Amino acid sequence: MLIAANKAVSIDYTLTDDAGKVIDSSAGGAPLVYLHGAGNIIPGLEKALEGKAVGDELKVAVEPEDAYGEYSAELVSTLDRKNFEGVDELEVGMQFHASAPDGQMQIVTIRDLDGNDVTVDGNHPLAGQRLNFQVKIVDIRDASQEEIAHGHVHGEGGHHH
Ligand SMILES: [Zn+2]
Repeated sequence: MLIAANKAVSIDYTLTDDAGKVIDSSAGGAPLVYLHGAGNIIPGLEKALEGKAVGDELKVAVEPEDAYGEYSAELVSTLDRKNFEGVDELEVGMQFHASAPDGQMQIVTIRDLDGNDVTVDGNHPLAGQRLNFQVKIVDIRDASQEEIAHGHVHGEGGHHH
């Protein structure tokens, strides 16, 4: 069986930045299980895995446009501290859920604090970075109709509901 749309795929992976620093890895834990073709993983990685078989190992360098996007200065804005009512103490590096102008939920990170000015950054933490994946395909199975309808995998490594 080869990786194609509507297959549930298990992979072991290590993600490093261009300096070789490990950003994320399944090593020491369970493999990542995802539904192929459903946008569960970044487009550049999904495309590279298409047609692969169990046991295949690959190295993929994914450019920002096929990962978390280019870094956008437009996503950085300065808000008044009163927008953060109910938060006891604001600190650089804190993250909040916010709704973007298009209604999508996004995570914003506090970049700077200056008096009542709070500078927040809506870029994904990995925006603008090339991502280097080392991947081994561990398992491929047909997804169930329910999984396909939901757009994600169920059971071990997937959603429980
Ligand atoms: Zn579901």
